[in-house]
Amino acid sequence: MRLDHPTTGAVPSDVIEPRHDLTYASDAPARDRYGRRIDYLRVSLTDRCNMRCVYCMPAVGMQFLPRPELLSNDELILVLRAAAGVGFRKIRLTGGEPTLRHEIVALVRAIKAIPGIAHVAMTTNALRLRQLAGPLREAGLDRVNVSIDSLDPQKFRQMTRGGSLDEVWAGVRAADEAGLRPIKLNAVVVRGMNDDEVIRLAALTTQYPWEFRFIEVMPLTGVAGLAEDGVISSAELLARIAAHFGPLETYGQDPSDPARCYRIPGAPGKLGFISAVTDPFCATCNRMRLTAEGRLHLCLLRDDELDLRAAVRAGAGEGEIAQLIRHAVDVKPWGHGLPEGVRPTLRSMSQLGG
Ligand code: SAM
Ligand code: SF4
Repeated sequence: MRLDHPTTGAVPSDVIEPRHDLTYASDAPARDRYGRRIDYLRVSLTDRCNMRCVYCMPAVGMQFLPRPELLSNDELILVLRAAAGVGFRKIRLTGGEPTLRHEIVALVRAIKAIPGIAHVAMTTNALRLRQLAGPLREAGLDRVNVSIDSLDPQKFRQMTRGGSLDEVWAGVRAADEAGLRPIKLNAVVVRGMNDDEVIRLAALTTQYPWEFRFIEVMPLTGVAGLAEDGVISSAELLARIAAHFGPLETYGQDPSDPARCYRIPGAPGKLGFISAVTDPFCATCNRMRLTAEGRLHLCLLRDDELDLRAAVRAGAGEGEIAQLIRHAVDVKPWGHGLPEGVRPTLRSMSQLGG
């Protein structure tokens, strides 16, 4: 497998033209042209959200997709069956806020029943988890990641522009009780907003067997100046946490997990650091994204996309869609171009799902 950055300047075209002249062996595993096995699809179920986190959406002025623009449940299941046929094994449901999706429990049940799909997870703000954790678990959801940027109710409300920390905690507890484990909690750390809480957040892993993941702010559309002024590197956070708790233990690393993992000595939980900006993990990338309106988005921090909805609505069957997905895997870019100053311009994080 090629692990170095093969080119620095090559920026693929933004919109990938579907190729109907290519055929791929249907039993070959989905590997991209750099040899990376691509088997993880992050699926945005909606671009809408019941929060407005400062690093994700502007306070006002978001334009949301009209419902007919979204893939219907039947269309989504068709695309995911095709993806499973190509070798995708893990699905993460995200958004916007995935729990706002109409008939979310039935949808999870249908996705989990697709032959070949081994694991279905969800990234959520947890505002609706108190009610939904049990039914989602019963429908086959394996686990959840919950976003929680602050343990101070006032600050949490400010950063999420209105979210209730109590409700989120109730959701996390409901997820734990329902068995949606191991629970992972995510905080995007923004300098001057919640970086003073890093020790308190990390200390949760000394109480609970959860993974707490610190995420660097990424420069997606709608983040305004935070991507310039707000980024605080994982290296700086690690140093601050180690200065408080003593040297951290390194933790066995799954190569396809973007989080670099550590443990506070003796803690039941672990810490993860996701450093897309300062220490990218493109060499071991195993994922692609599907937007709510059915576009395969090939790299989080680039604009390259392939429109599957157009094919579905033109009557393409599972086999044809599988060929399109294979083509998308084939042309997946090596990695993002932040070091060369290439910024994604097409979408906000709430349209892509993280
Ligand atoms: N609404 C759900 C939630 O907040 O967990 C799922 C969607 S959200 C877009 C997915 C993840 O992206 C969350 O962990 C969120 O913290 C993260 N995120 C949003 N904007 C980000 C940014 N600019 N940089 C880094 N992570 C971001
Ligand atoms: Fe909503 Fe999640 Fe974006 Fe926050 S990070 S605004 S909860 S989609």
